[in-house]
Amino acid sequence: MPVSAERVVGPELLGIAEKVHRGERLSREDGVRLYETPNLTGVGYLANVVRERKHGAKTYFVRNQHVNYTNICNKFCKFCSFYAKKGGPSPYEMSLDEVRQRLSWHKDVPITEVHMVGGINPRLPYSYYTDLVRAVKEVRPGVHVKAFTAVEIVEIARVGKVSFERALADLIEAGLDSLPGGGIEVLSDRVHKELFGKKLNGEEWKAVARAAAKLGLKQYATMLYGHIETVEERVDHLIQLRELQDETGHFLTFTPLSFHPEGTELEDIKPLTGDVDLRNIAVSRLMLDNFDHVKSFWIMNTAAITQAALWYGADDCDGLVHEYEITYKDGEWGNKRQALTYENMVHMIREVGREPIERDSLYREIVRDDPVPSPRRLVPLAQA
Ligand code: SF4
Repeated sequence: MPVSAERVVGPELLGIAEKVHRGERLSREDGVRLYETPNLTGVGYLANVVRERKHGAKTYFVRNQHVNYTNICNKFCKFCSFYAKKGGPSPYEMSLDEVRQRLSWHKDVPITEVHMVGGINPRLPYSYYTDLVRAVKEVRPGVHVKAFTAVEIVEIARVGKVSFERALADLIEAGLDSLPGGGIEVLSDRVHKELFGKKLNGEEWKAVARAAAKLGLKQYATMLYGHIETVEERVDHLIQLRELQDETGHFLTFTPLSFHPEGTELEDIKPLTGDVDLRNIAVSRLMLDNFDHVKSFWIMNTAAITQAALWYGADDCDGLVHEYEITYKDGEWGNKRQALTYENMVHMIREVGREPIERDSLYREIVRDDPVPSPRRLVPLAQA
């Protein structure tokens, strides 16, 4: 290791730095140390070594649209601001025609992925979900449908009185292409019990993941951080995902998701800082040696933190994201934004010296002779 690198990581991280340079797997103890050291620059430096070893300067994004088909939910997770409740968002449930209409709003954008998740709405029949996937494929033939977290899969199966393997198979037959992350937040029985006890537990989440892998589906993985979880629980979450990936190999990307307390039952928790967001990106990159990609979801992290994250281990920014409703709605909470233009995304990446690569949902590079610009106006990144 060059002397200048030794100075950046300092004596506390030297042992971890040597492992990173040798390409060795990091231990639980290493993960905790990476979270606890005040030397964020050293952690980021090491994560960047791994990021550049895997991808050089390449930074991926996708042209995507989100559809959050209902916010009616019977799980009442304490960290959630999305579900309909008194004093919160009004209830809605989209008909298939409404979904078709929303998709047609962006027909002029060459979207390659439609990402659909929603609340657990017991009024929706089994056929709604398969029809929903079919409706997307009708309006946007060839698009990749990434839909339904593991908790939705379990509930869809329950409504249909079938096994979740059967539900997955029916959804695949209708056109489902992959499963998003989410649904488990943190793989910890304590956090599960305290914050989202009505949802599936860690073992059930893993069982859905294994079934999806067996059926040939790809899946994404996440971790919601910044609520009541401890540093050790974060590291255990990452190690459990790493072990599962050793077994299945079907996870494409890991996304650490920054908790936003506004509008949740945990409003007293202080909003997260850039240190925490960058550190979670960097530690994930270092611990998850068998995940190809680590994403900074710019909607949650902001475009500004995402630019820094591209030097702290992240190689993916998600996408242009039209219509995201989970964390906040358009126009609410100051000027936080729901969509970037193609030009803004490219600019955001190039401005920090990285190479923008448009990808599809399976990370195949998309080369366009004439990238079609989004019709939305350019907005200075400082407003994002
Ligand atoms: Fe429902 Fe999902 Fe919100 Fe939990 S996180 S309350 S399951 S919408």
